[in-house]
Amino acid sequence: MTAETFAFQAEISQLMSLIINTFYSNKEIFLRELISNASDALDKIRYESLTDPSALDSCKDLFIQLSFDKTNRILTIRDTGIGMTKADLVNNLGTIAKSGTKTFMEALSQGADISMIGQFGVGFYSAYLVADKVEVITKNNSDEQYIWESAAGGSFTIALDESDYKLGRGTEIRLHMKEDQLEYLDEKKIKEIVKKHSEFISYPIRLLVEREVETEVPADEEVKETDSKIEEVEDEEESKPKTKKIKEMKTEEEELNKIKPIWTRNPDDVTTEEYNAFYKALSNDWEDPLACKPFSVEGQLEFRAILYIPARAPFDLFESKKKRNNIKLYVRRVFIMDDCDELIPEWLSFVKGVVDSEDLPLNISREILQQNKILKVIRKNIVKKCLEMFQEISEDKESFTKFYDAFSKNIKLGIHEDSQNRTKLADLLRYNSTKSLDEPTSFKDYITRMPANQNDIYYITGESRKAVEDSPFLEVLRTRGYEVLFMVDPIDEYCVQQLREIDGKKLVSVTKEGLDLGETEEEKKHTEELKQEYEPLCAYIKESLGDLVEKVVVSNRISNSPCVLVTGQFGWSANMERIMKAQALRDSSMSSYMMSKKTMEINTNHPIIKHLKAKFDEDKNDKTIKDLSLLMYESSLLSSGFTLEDPSAFSNRIYRMIKHGLSLEDDAIVEDAPTDAPALEEVADSNMEEVD
Ligand code: ADP
Ligand code: MG
Repeated sequence: MTAETFAFQAEISQLMSLIINTFYSNKEIFLRELISNASDALDKIRYESLTDPSALDSCKDLFIQLSFDKTNRILTIRDTGIGMTKADLVNNLGTIAKSGTKTFMEALSQGADISMIGQFGVGFYSAYLVADKVEVITKNNSDEQYIWESAAGGSFTIALDESDYKLGRGTEIRLHMKEDQLEYLDEKKIKEIVKKHSEFISYPIRLLVEREVETEVPADEEVKETDSKIEEVEDEEESKPKTKKIKEMKTEEEELNKIKPIWTRNPDDVTTEEYNAFYKALSNDWEDPLACKPFSVEGQLEFRAILYIPARAPFDLFESKKKRNNIKLYVRRVFIMDDCDELIPEWLSFVKGVVDSEDLPLNISREILQQNKILKVIRKNIVKKCLEMFQEISEDKESFTKFYDAFSKNIKLGIHEDSQNRTKLADLLRYNSTKSLDEPTSFKDYITRMPANQNDIYYITGESRKAVEDSPFLEVLRTRGYEVLFMVDPIDEYCVQQLREIDGKKLVSVTKEGLDLGETEEEKKHTEELKQEYEPLCAYIKESLGDLVEKVVVSNRISNSPCVLVTGQFGWSANMERIMKAQALRDSSMSSYMMSKKTMEINTNHPIIKHLKAKFDEDKNDKTIKDLSLLMYESSLLSSGFTLEDPSAFSNRIYRMIKHGLSLEDDAIVEDAPTDAPALEEVADSNMEEVD
């Protein structure tokens, strides 16, 4: 049977050339990657066997075996895992790009290290760091044995394996080592690398070594074999010893990872280095974790666990296709699965670790897991321990900054989703504010700075810090000495809706209507008078603007701007409206319902407003007030954080104002361009030619 040839998907091909051609000295990590793949494959067949014991009929022993052949320059990594069907080979090893392929290449070009390859889901190709040709012989229970082969160069082949060499089940990777990489064909070297990178693999890793062994054999025993000649020599050699030593080459198997699972040991006896090494093996991460928490629960229900927080966010943290959690579930030391949704809530998907339960049944199915009470208790404990870990991290400023940079979105998601732990999570939030410009502040610290007459916690949401920092909404709050928090992450809008209150203090948006600034009775009285006085003007402006605004009222929050637009207490803020507009798939019925109902607030101290009032008092039907109202409305849309529905109408109105300012006639004409100038298309054409 002839081999079929396939082309590598373009990005994979590019990645392979990069791996082959980049100068890189830490090549030994290829072995870690291939052993990790073998271990994954073993996990898969073990999981399958829990519900279908016959899956193991093809080979009961689950192990990884390493061997080398100096003469032919081959290093072999074999496992008795799940193996691959022909379709798996085509898909997994070459034709379907993973999102990590491109991301990894980009990361490399920005100085990332090749050893990070495993994190990006393309670890297999690290084989080409040391090999110029790779063969993958593989057998899955539901297909024949196949050989995949590639010497890079853009293509690979797959052929049915008709040789007598039968795997039973699993995969054997044969690396044809490059001329200058023969150091890996060495017992000591292999042991050293496995110890360093693969110590925590939970299947035996066996190294096949050839040893010259001396065995003693009875002297006569050997002679017996030579049959007829025996009698002749027997008499002559009477003084010969009864036994005899012979040297033989024997293949021996040596297990390289004989330690018991780290979580079964007493935490006092495990060093930080060991925990870190376990983390790296578990997560493919190249960096130490930010925090680690081993714990056990005893009593009615028993389990042990280790949880880790990585030092950075993974590149695909919020990618929806990615598997949703990183906690490996074991039952009495047997690996069950690493994507059990019930083990940890989605907002904690960045936490990594292991859980080993004494109580769950071994042959547990996904359906049973969904309603399992034991699992619910485990989950609750995991969340509790995570919160403890976050709290501990927050005690160290440097670690907390790192943590917050990487995972603040998750914390906010947690606030949105986990009502029980909302208060604890809110303690972790940090925001810049009008009084905390350089370093973000916590709610707790904010509260200590509140003046006696301030009742609420104020915040403003917006697109960026720049956009909110100079917002007209902050004017009066600033002069009163009230601090305003800047919430400029889109997720803040969702998160703050769930918070409502901190330590009995209301969270109040300064861009929404009904802002209570803790005014004195006197101030309130004064505002009331102004309201009465300006009532007719407000009504006239409202009439001029029609449906654009809900109402027009006198403002208590602005001092330098003539007016602002505020939104309803429970509707969307301007920022939320912007976010929702940006989400293409939004539900339009919802949006018309939630779409901000705008209230215009006017500043009665502002000269423009005062002037309008005077004009209005003179002539209750003054047309220019109508025009000016519209212009003020549009300008305040922008300064209040909304987007303009019709920007060109707005700019035309502004140009008209400029003309007035320059004392030009309203209908001053725009001159035509000189007629001998080339038409626009011609200019474009000639430019094209030059570029060619
Ligand atoms: P990852 O392990 O992150 O998925 P790799 O590039 O290391 O990425 O491996 C690609 C895929 O090839 C694996 O997901 C798996 O499906 C398949 N594979 C690799 N090695 C083996 C193996 N020893 N046994 C079975 N499948 C394997
Ligand atoms: Mg891998």
